[in-house]
Amino acid sequence: MEKSKRIIITIDGPAGSGKTTVAKILAKKLNIAYLDTGAMYRGVALILGNLPKDFDKLEEILSSLKFDLVYNGEDFSLAMNNKILGDEIRSEEIGFVASKVAKEPFVRKYLTAQQREIAKKHSLVAEGRDMGTVVFKDADFKFFLTASAKIRAKRRFEQLREMGFDADYEKILKDIEKRDKQDSSREIAPLKPAEDALIIDTSNLNISEVVDMLLKSIKG
Ligand code: C5P
Repeated sequence: MEKSKRIIITIDGPAGSGKTTVAKILAKKLNIAYLDTGAMYRGVALILGNLPKDFDKLEEILSSLKFDLVYNGEDFSLAMNNKILGDEIRSEEIGFVASKVAKEPFVRKYLTAQQREIAKKHSLVAEGRDMGTVVFKDADFKFFLTASAKIRAKRRFEQLREMGFDADYEKILKDIEKRDKQDSSREIAPLKPAEDALIIDTSNLNISEVVDMLLKSIKG
């Protein structure tokens, strides 16, 4: 990729659509950074986890949180207040609290601003729910990945087991359906494809087939 011009590629989609894996590989292939914006909402949820669930203190807590990308010479990782966010944010419980937190307008406003700050410093493959519709409306390339809820639940189940979490397929399926509903029906920045996004149903595709489709579309 050309070094002098920053490029932004957005990948949006529901949980388990494959966007995280695809975004990471795509960023590596293009030699640019990968930004997992779900991890930012999960980071906020992690901090909130130890506090009363009424969100009273959220506005105050939020103003003390700073997100950035940290490069270790090989990969970019997302850090919250200089601490790299790892597997501790990956449980379905944290995902669900993140989805609740994500409905709050001031949270979205704060994290959107942080995401745009990061984009001033790096070319990005940015993945989330509102990358193409809100945060990076002028992105160079926009994609929306989707798959049936059952297939997404199966992928999540396998992923969580690999990470060493206890996982129950039926519960994951229910959680995914609940989270889809919560994310698609919220008033601000609901989960939906941008009008100019290329929509890809990944139900019957493997990761490298999806990456190849995206690369083909980017390189023309
Ligand atoms: O992508 P991930 O499952 O890690 O995201 C966790 C939650 O954060 C989502 O269910 C969604 O509610 C929220 N989110 C969001 N906007 C983004 C990224 C994530 O609302 N750009």
